[in-house]
Amino acid sequence: MKLDCKAASRLISEGLDRDLDFSQRTALRLHLLICTTCSRVKAQLAFLHRSASRYQGGDEDDLPPHH
Ligand SMILES: [Zn+2]
Repeated sequence: MKLDCKAASRLISEGLDRDLDFSQRTALRLHLLICTTCSRVKAQLAFLHRSASRYQGGDEDDLPPHH
């Protein structure tokens, strides 16, 4: 499975809200290895996501494990 940047950025933002399946994670990781643009997008989205959940007062460490 090959990702273009559009598909990669969609997976990046989906991955912040839910777990991606194995093939999606693998394809995304491979894309991030070769694409600095999407690596930067991922870092920015992850930062925004963390700030947003802190702003809402959510403490992710207190949530029960998903599995
Ligand atoms: Zn890309």
